[in-house]
Amino acid sequence: MKVGGRVAWLLEPATPEEFREAYLLARERGHQVRVLGGGANLLVCDGELPFTVLCTSRMGRIFRPGTQPEDGADGAPESGSTADPEREPAPLAQLEDLARVAPVPREDDPRLVAWAGASLPGLLRTARELGWSGLEGLVGVPGSAGGAAAMNAGGRWGDFWDVVESVRVLTPEGELRDITRAAAKPSYRDGGLGENIVLGVVLALEVSQRAEVSTVMDTYLREKNALQPVTEASSGCIFKNPDPELSDGRRAGQLIDECGGKELRRGAALVSPRHANFIINSGGAQAADVFTLIEDVRDLVAQKTGLQLATEVRIWP
Ligand SMILES: Cc1cc2nc3c(=O)[nH]c(=O)nc-3n(C[C@H](O)[C@H](O)[C@H](O)COP(=O)(O)OP(=O)(O)OC[C@H]3O[C@@H](n4cnc5c(N)ncnc54)[C@H](O)[C@@H]3O)c2cc1C
Repeated sequence: MKVGGRVAWLLEPATPEEFREAYLLARERGHQVRVLGGGANLLVCDGELPFTVLCTSRMGRIFRPGTQPEDGADGAPESGSTADPEREPAPLAQLEDLARVAPVPREDDPRLVAWAGASLPGLLRTARELGWSGLEGLVGVPGSAGGAAAMNAGGRWGDFWDVVESVRVLTPEGELRDITRAAAKPSYRDGGLGENIVLGVVLALEVSQRAEVSTVMDTYLREKNALQPVTEASSGCIFKNPDPELSDGRRAGQLIDECGGKELRRGAALVSPRHANFIINSGGAQAADVFTLIEDVRDLVAQKTGLQLATEVRIWP
């Protein structure tokens, strides 16, 4: 959204190990810690913010599991097995960074490991290049693998957790743990990970054809670009879609539009004329403008329909 204040400390660890070290040090010194991925689903308040931010943007590796290191202590579960919660997880950084298209037969094991800071569009490019299917529904969604796992990013064509086999997390106590899909119980825009911080994800995709994956991605992307203000500064959808039984199947954007929400603006923050569930910064908006506009939209919809929209976007602090 290109709004928001400052923190005294923004740390950018380059590996999961460095991340853990930085997290433990910050906690030891009494800092409150927040994790920043791509910032694509965040609204940050104006002014000085009382926490230390750990940003995953340098932790961008994407590779195939199971081909190294020599001692076999890779960070991903064995093929065909689910992660053993009792097993001490190996540090993700021990995995070598393989070429984006590895030289071993790609049909053998269509899984990818991504560190938390790997960009979601980068992951999709890798899957497309390999001809592996499963991530097509995430096309056009910005941000990081860690953010996508935390938020269970997705839409009508599927969610991130549909293809997550397990995630490697750092617990609030500073321990490493592997969490499987069954244990996380992800739901609509919530990865079910609580306070755990994602350091890496293991994705189980399906072998397909590059042309087929490309065609589906291109089709979805055209549709998304036609509906959403993808080139403007925004935080994606501001509100979650309400329970369809209560809203007669109308999504948040449709409700806002029907209530006249597209007319609303505060300062340089305005409801997108293209998609009413997006607020855009038309240039120089303050975070306070965006927050006021969010509450105005929520009030408008509540007055006209009796429905209380819940925010999807995460707000700091
Ligand atoms: C133009 C546009 C279109 C979008 N379209 C979609 C869409 O179709 N579907 C959809 O679901 N979303 C969409 N979004 C929102 C956003 O892209 C996703 O929610 C994305 O997954 C956010 O990832 P991020 O890395 O940017 O997370 P951030 O915005 O950095 O963080 C979001 C939340 O996740 C937490 N977080 C980040 N990284 C981690 C981590 N490693 N471990 C634990 N918690 C973490 C943060 O603390 C914060 O609470 C869109 C956004 C934009 C701007």
